[in-house]
Amino acid sequence: MARIMGTDEQAVRTAAIVLAEGKLVAIPTETVYGLAADATNGEAVASIFEAKGRPHFNPLICHVSDVSMAERYAVIDPQSRRLIDAFWPGPLTLVLPLKADTAIHPLVAAGLDTIALRMPRGVAGKIIAALDRPLAAPSANTSGKISGTSAPAVEDDLGARIALILDAGPSEVGLESTIVKVDGDAVQLLRPGGLAAEDIEAFIGKKLERIDQRSAIEAPGMLASHYAPAAGVRLNVHEVREGEALLAFGPVRASGAALAAASLNLSEAGNLREAAANLFDYMKRLDRLGSAVIAVEPIPFNGLGEAINDRLVRAAAPRIPSMTVEQIK
Ligand code: AMP
Ligand code: MG
Repeated sequence: MARIMGTDEQAVRTAAIVLAEGKLVAIPTETVYGLAADATNGEAVASIFEAKGRPHFNPLICHVSDVSMAERYAVIDPQSRRLIDAFWPGPLTLVLPLKADTAIHPLVAAGLDTIALRMPRGVAGKIIAALDRPLAAPSANTSGKISGTSAPAVEDDLGARIALILDAGPSEVGLESTIVKVDGDAVQLLRPGGLAAEDIEAFIGKKLERIDQRSAIEAPGMLASHYAPAAGVRLNVHEVREGEALLAFGPVRASGAALAAASLNLSEAGNLREAAANLFDYMKRLDRLGSAVIAVEPIPFNGLGEAINDRLVRAAAPRIPSMTVEQIK
């Protein structure tokens, strides 16, 4: 059972403390209840996927308390800035170029170089300001279930897996945020949501470019090519070959590990949450070393292992097109 509090000053302080400890808090926003984690803490973000039981890592919306916090992390073009000034705080998410070397953990954007940012109305903004860090927060519900729009609904679904729920009554909008992306002169609608497209169109004085949901929204997190490193990727490796870069997992090494040109261990202890937090960064680092192949030790399929393996299969996909998760299980 999660602890349930209201939205007074003490609740805001408590939420900020719990989040700073790397734990999850369900917070009310005007759209739906969010399952929030400190966006700069990789293991905390990994535990969002764990609590939701999501079988893959998709990019999450990052919530900020104000425009200056958004500017710390993203490059804001003039058109996006006008939309922000008109509609924040509110149910509008903007996809923006992510600045290099920010504190946002790579798992939040699923390794993309863009970031989805939003400033929510209500108590969430106060919590973010108190924490002074953005919150990664998808809807507070188990993967595949409908979004939580009240504290009892969230408690019912996720209560056993989260530390704290703040109760602000039923969500005002009850729909996810509208996601847009400014692309040159065009403004793309990536996901319709709680802010009507017509309201945005009336403001910008032109039509939004409707982008196919599956390609625009799912693709950033799903597309094989996005995940493809320059190196080939060999999965489920029990024997390392000379010159390969080794992505290890757990305390026991594959045979021939000493022949690897370089190696990084996702989690010496075999902790899947730690491994999830290291995955995007370690893949990139090994890829940069220039080995022809990244050899990946077997990673179990329980808990976050499913999403980790999903990500690795995508990285390997362009070179081993016939290999599926089923085959390497
Ligand atoms: P949820 O997981 O319910 O919070 O949904 C977040 C939505 O935002 C998903 O549909 C994501 O694909 C989308 N999203 C997040 N970050 C990005 C991004 N950088 N580019 C495009 N879409 C994004
Ligand atoms: Mg959702």
